[in-house]
Amino acid sequence: MRTEEENIKLAELLYPNIKDSREDIMKKYPKRELEEGAMVTRFAPSPTGFLHMGGVYSSLVSTMMAKQTNGVSILRIEDTDKGREVENGISLILGGLNGLGIHFIEGVTGEDTEAGEYGPYVQSRRLPIYHTFIKEMIANGYAYPCFMTEKELNDIRDKQLALGVKTGCYGDWAKWRNASLDEIKAMLDKGAPYVIRLRSTGDANKTYDMVDLVKGKVTLRENDMDAVLIKSDGFPVYHFAHPVDDTLMCVTHVVRGDEWFSSLPLHVELFNKLGFELPQYCHIAPLMKIDGDDNSKRKLSKRKDPEADVQFYVKNGYPKEGVIEYLLNLANSNFYDWRKANPDASPFDFILRFEKFNKAGALFDIVKLDNACKDYWATLSAEEIYDRVVEWSSTYDKELNSLLLENKDYCTAILNIERTGDKIRKDIVKLADVKDLMSIFFDISSYEDISNRVSTDMQKNLLQEYISTYDDSVDGVAWFDNVKNIATKYNVSAGDVAMTIRVAITGRTKSPDLYQVIHVLGKEEMFNRISLYLKKL
Ligand code: GLU
Repeated sequence: MRTEEENIKLAELLYPNIKDSREDIMKKYPKRELEEGAMVTRFAPSPTGFLHMGGVYSSLVSTMMAKQTNGVSILRIEDTDKGREVENGISLILGGLNGLGIHFIEGVTGEDTEAGEYGPYVQSRRLPIYHTFIKEMIANGYAYPCFMTEKELNDIRDKQLALGVKTGCYGDWAKWRNASLDEIKAMLDKGAPYVIRLRSTGDANKTYDMVDLVKGKVTLRENDMDAVLIKSDGFPVYHFAHPVDDTLMCVTHVVRGDEWFSSLPLHVELFNKLGFELPQYCHIAPLMKIDGDDNSKRKLSKRKDPEADVQFYVKNGYPKEGVIEYLLNLANSNFYDWRKANPDASPFDFILRFEKFNKAGALFDIVKLDNACKDYWATLSAEEIYDRVVEWSSTYDKELNSLLLENKDYCTAILNIERTGDKIRKDIVKLADVKDLMSIFFDISSYEDISNRVSTDMQKNLLQEYISTYDDSVDGVAWFDNVKNIATKYNVSAGDVAMTIRVAITGRTKSPDLYQVIHVLGKEEMFNRISLYLKKL
């Protein structure tokens, strides 16, 4: 067992270049002057090139909670695991979040840019800060260097499994927790790699209660693991960066995924040993999905579900309004009632409540999300949709973009079909759907075969009759009366006549309102298309 004095020496030996004391650092991060009840929240993703919708969900909650209490939301980048990092990882995160309308007040704003007084907001730029606090912990006897090799750790694990005891580095298994200064020096002289571990004083037989704002009262078992705090490359692990960063940035509410809940006892011990006040914890249950033959629930998975990736929504041109509204409804189920009562309000004005969160995990249903998006597009005018699809396609579909720009009036007219009146069309989920919707107005690539329902000869008769009786000046009711007259004359149903016309001019058996389609195409184009079809028959 080392003496107090030896621990101070050890700290100096390991971190000779760290001259700042904790007070020096704390002075640079003064308490924020905010009104009573204001929440300071953060979202802390790792730049792995993949942003899970679960992350979007908690970032939405974090930003909304800060906004509704006049607090501060922070975007912090946790890049301490260099192996998992990808190039442009920060831009991908920002692109995904901002693309859905989620913006932070403070923190990272670009690959190399930040906003706010509590930075740096990228963890790899904060190493001296972590080293100051770990140095202090070592000096206090709360942390120590551990030289155990991968092999030694595996051997311990095997022994523990054979004995049927808890696995891990704790108590007497933690070989280096009580090593003498001389033993440590000898290893350092040899240049042996080491990590810094917590010297836990917890007792796993003891429990204590805490309140999680989402889960309610929780009972935790004390941590007794000598967890790694600083890796052999000098970078902190999440468990150590979390108390340091959240304390210095004055975070009041830690909103994070439920997968971190099991580490909470370790975090509590670290906050205590660092002399920091605990923030409020809000562990959000994961997004779930119904899957498989037995309709069982499982977590929305990065590997299995394309809809788990934020880029899926951005690339396909999902409306941020629809996605956000769907996520808000998952968070607090009274959201849609609020929406009905406040049809014109911004979704960001909805007041979220932690206690209303679904504790068991919200069911993420892409079909329902699609419907929310369809409903959203149905509230926009053709001109608004045109502008949105032009903007989206400028990045994601250049061909469609040129088509739209070169044919603005025609495309707006196409988008305007069934967009006024009582029955608004709901066939757009995402902007990527617009291309298919437009395509029949530009080019018919193939024709659906309806000859088993209306014979080829009959189709010819019907179309010739239609051409000779067509009157461009009549309204939809009179136009359909004519279709019915043709049907009576040839002893077929009006539906058969309409279907024949539809296939001749669109190639498809399904289309939006035929009368409106005809008027967008124009008489001449319609006649051209019918003659072309007649020739093909
Ligand atoms: N970097 C952690 C993650 O990617 C952050 C967890 C937290 O929000 O505290 O999940």
